[in-house]
Amino acid sequence: MTLYTPEQIYNAARAMLSMLDEDRRQQMRSLLQEADNGADTHMQVLDLLTRDDATLEQLRRLLGIKGIDTFRTLGYAGAAGEPMITKPGAVYVCPVEGCTERYVIGEAGETPPPCPKHHTPLVPEWAS
Ligand SMILES: [Zn+2]
Repeated sequence: MTLYTPEQIYNAARAMLSMLDEDRRQQMRSLLQEADNGADTHMQVLDLLTRDDATLEQLRRLLGIKGIDTFRTLGYAGAAGEPMITKPGAVYVCPVEGCTERYVIGEAGETPPPCPKHHTPLVPEWAS
């Protein structure tokens, strides 16, 4: 799993909070909190996310080739990413299962805002 940066793993974990059961959600929240404070908790985060098939599948989707490209092109994965030029009319959606948040790009180059409910980067509709 070293293919992924801790940042990508934390992003995926944030996007998946709503699909975790109460127990794991609380553990995840504290792991993410520690990560925000500078601790390196991504291995524990991964461990929580890979415990059952549903979350493992979703994690694969979020960290799949498309997912990684998405995080990167949107500039969320840090310095290595080249910002993507968004096109007017392109539709961005929240990657969280069941979330209906959508954003339509108005101007070329505009960056879609994160989902107001999940605080997770929106992804192009084709990638969700
Ligand atoms: Zn959302």
